[in-house]
Amino acid sequence: MKKAKDILKKMNAGVVKSCRKACNIHVLSRVVLVVAFVLAVIAVGLVAFYKPVRETVFVSPETHTVIEVKPGDTLSKILTDQGFSMRDANAISQNLKKDADFVTLRPGRDKFDFVRPKEGEPISKIVIENGPWNRIEIDCGMPDTWQCQKIQIERDTRLAYREGEIAQGSSFYLSAMDAGIPEGLILDVYDLLAFEMDFERDIRAGQKFYVLYEENFASDKKVDNGHVLAVSFDALRGNVRMYRYVKPDGHAGYYDEHGNGAIKSLKRTPINNAKVTSNFSKGRKHPVLGFTRAHKGVDFRAPTGTPIPAAGAGRVIARSFNRGHGNFVKIRHNGTFETLYAHMSKFAKGVNVGTMVRQGQIIGYSGSTGLSTGPHLHYEIIKNGVHVNPMTVKLPAIDNLDAKNKKLFMDKKVQMDSIIESLKNNSARIVRLSEIENAVPATAAETKK
Ligand SMILES: [Zn+2]
Repeated sequence: MKKAKDILKKMNAGVVKSCRKACNIHVLSRVVLVVAFVLAVIAVGLVAFYKPVRETVFVSPETHTVIEVKPGDTLSKILTDQGFSMRDANAISQNLKKDADFVTLRPGRDKFDFVRPKEGEPISKIVIENGPWNRIEIDCGMPDTWQCQKIQIERDTRLAYREGEIAQGSSFYLSAMDAGIPEGLILDVYDLLAFEMDFERDIRAGQKFYVLYEENFASDKKVDNGHVLAVSFDALRGNVRMYRYVKPDGHAGYYDEHGNGAIKSLKRTPINNAKVTSNFSKGRKHPVLGFTRAHKGVDFRAPTGTPIPAAGAGRVIARSFNRGHGNFVKIRHNGTFETLYAHMSKFAKGVNVGTMVRQGQIIGYSGSTGLSTGPHLHYEIIKNGVHVNPMTVKLPAIDNLDAKNKKLFMDKKVQMDSIIESLKNNSARIVRLSEIENAVPATAAETKK
């Protein structure tokens, strides 16, 4: 009995043991299944996730052929060189004209990027980069359709402030370079201030100046400089300031703090309503000398003593007498223009070499001194050292603001001054236009133009 009990016990134990073993196997297989399932999910995920990464990272099938336009290149040559038929090249060229207004190639600037989906496959896209802010994309995906899309790259405009001082023995140009003003903009500043001051003679050590201008960025990289927005120069006659202002019609100009146009012009006829008695000519019979010689100016009838106004603002560079001109005055207006007034009976008081005169200021009185047959004003305009016909020479346009624009300009000037003040105290000396847009919406909108 005991034996049987023992056997039973053993058997039970065996059953229990084997049952336990079976149960363990069951749990184990479940775990294995779950783990396998999880691994499978991970594997599928990895395959799904890694596949595109592997495609772009390890295999980049897209190929780019970049062609820079050289002098003498034509659009059809560039396209046929890449395998386009003449017919396709013509169609592309027509669409470029129609959709993107792209007509002429500019060597040294335009770049073509021919994109193929894979090496050896037909071109799927052409990207033309024409200028830092323009791109044209031509879709070649559909046969015989050459859709052109003009894409404008957005400018991230920042306003930069630079200030400096004329160093001992230095020029404005060198001092401006030292102040970090880009070279191209220094020339713009020259042109702006040229009617107000003489950069050769009015420059003294210690004169202070500043410039507010635009720098254009794309993806945080500086691409180019924009416009000069404001200029200040401590000239001998006092501080000269100029501001850029864009009228509501889109025309931009520069104006002083009172809203007067920065570009001053010259009058073709200094004396109003005076009759022309002799025109400018390359060869005429001289009334006194009797032989043919050029008449380098225009003669206006003017009884002795008629006041002669300066044709434009500038600096008197000669007040003298010679046999031909008699008493004459010569005025330098800017780097380009000079005017001369001859045969004067007398000079106006206070007009000497070096005197700065306003447009319309009386510089002398008509007469008949020098080689002259009767009282008249002989008037010359000298452009870049060459005598030109005062009646036909192209003169810079006078651009003064009307009352409505003057008011708008004065508002902008106040805003511009406040930007300058804040940049003076900002060590970076540069500010994103978008950052000040809320503070000065009108100026910001305009400076973008
Ligand atoms: Zn004359």
